[in-house]
Amino acid sequence: MKILVPVKRVVDYNVKVRVKPDQTGVDLANVKMSMNPFCEIAVEEAIRLKEKGVASEIVAVSIGPAQAQETIRTALAMGADRGILIETDQTVEPLAVAKLLKAVVDEEGPELVMLGKQAIDDDANQTGQMLAALLDWPQGTFASKVGIADGKATVTREVDGGLQTLALQLPAVVTTDLRLNEPRYASLPNIMKAKRKPIDTKSPGDYGVDIANRLEVLKVTEPPKREAGIKVESVAELVDKLKNEAGVI
Ligand code: AMP
Repeated sequence: MKILVPVKRVVDYNVKVRVKPDQTGVDLANVKMSMNPFCEIAVEEAIRLKEKGVASEIVAVSIGPAQAQETIRTALAMGADRGILIETDQTVEPLAVAKLLKAVVDEEGPELVMLGKQAIDDDANQTGQMLAALLDWPQGTFASKVGIADGKATVTREVDGGLQTLALQLPAVVTTDLRLNEPRYASLPNIMKAKRKPIDTKSPGDYGVDIANRLEVLKVTEPPKREAGIKVESVAELVDKLKNEAGVI
């Protein structure tokens, strides 16, 4: 079974992002970029399926600038077999990403596409769902456990107040939640080995997909600054402030 894992290059989750002075977006100059954490979880899960003998090949695909090759290399160093970079310097919205991924699926014929549930830069949480719709494949989103047997994927999802378990007929789309696994670090020998693994470079035009944006960002602003707290002398004062100043009780 072949697994396709889309991996996105995003601002590292440790970076405190700054909004550009003209409010058109986030300043990306000299900012550390890394693989989206939910994509790391997807790569890890695919590798575990390969280690169990369920999967035979893992293909990592990224849509982004030339530097997204580093993100693919990270997936290869973790254990993916080869990569596809669809290179573009444009921002690509989830629908266009899903269309490109559909074209890759049509070419590669995987039985499972394992994506992150969301990219931490745009927080869209749309690509997996849109891809499943375009392919007309079943989807298991926010997976906290995945099992594959007898041509089916069993996906456990964290839902309000409990867990839901779904059986999906393969081929299927699965998106990963935080608790699915803890991704491994790539070892030095594997980082070296990854340098020799193949990465195919393509362009959106190769797949005949129009990636023109359909959304217009009006403005991006910082969240309001938190005001400093105060110390109260007694419970009575606290209750009084909650009642008469904050108006919450
Ligand atoms: P989103 O719908 O943007 O929140 O992203 C959800 C998931 O879709 C990510 O975790 C990736 O697995 C995949 N994805 C989104 N954008 C890209 C991209 N540019 N390249 C590769 N995968 C992507």
